[in-house]
Amino acid sequence: MNQMTGPDRSQAEFLVELIHQLAEGGELPATSGNFSFKSLEDPNKIYLSESGVDKERFSIENLVPVTTKGELIEAGRKVSDESALHLMTYRAFEAGCILHGHPVEALHFADLYPNKTEIKISGLELVKAFAGNTDHNDSVIIPFYKNTQDLNTLATQIAGDWKKGHIFAFIIRGHGLTCWGNDVAEAKKHWQALTYLMDYELAKGL
Ligand SMILES: [Zn+2]
Repeated sequence: MNQMTGPDRSQAEFLVELIHQLAEGGELPATSGNFSFKSLEDPNKIYLSESGVDKERFSIENLVPVTTKGELIEAGRKVSDESALHLMTYRAFEAGCILHGHPVEALHFADLYPNKTEIKISGLELVKAFAGNTDHNDSVIIPFYKNTQDLNTLATQIAGDWKKGHIFAFIIRGHGLTCWGNDVAEAKKHWQALTYLMDYELAKGL
């Protein structure tokens, strides 16, 4: 039973609402996608989504408390196999909430640039949606990585490449999109801006 109260409960409710929205939009098929936020009350605690749950039926009870090292705080729960990506992101970046899903536009977007390891987008009004940007000529960088089932090694590589870097997202080719923000609201804003920018670039590439 989840004992969340106060600010953590508000974050959890907002995150569950967002998961339902993304699921209804078809971005989280076949129980895919995983989500987390850092407790506002205990800096050593992270809430991670439970493994294998249909995201249209996801509830606050499916957020599992773990330590920042990924150790279960409640016995008998199972978090996503992709938790390594979340734990790395909290260690390497200023993140309070992380969203990971498999939107098909992220896969097609990365396919537009098969030989690039990252892409920088600038000159569009929506780049202002990213934290720290104030002008449409500011930019957002989206790195690309090859898919692997060894997510621990991949997580270490991403952290090494971008530690302290000004990024809010990365794409794993043929797999999906991970993005984050200081809290659920900012992560949502970044996700929406990213999918918009990817749709724009895809339409241009046709
Ligand atoms: Zn995934």
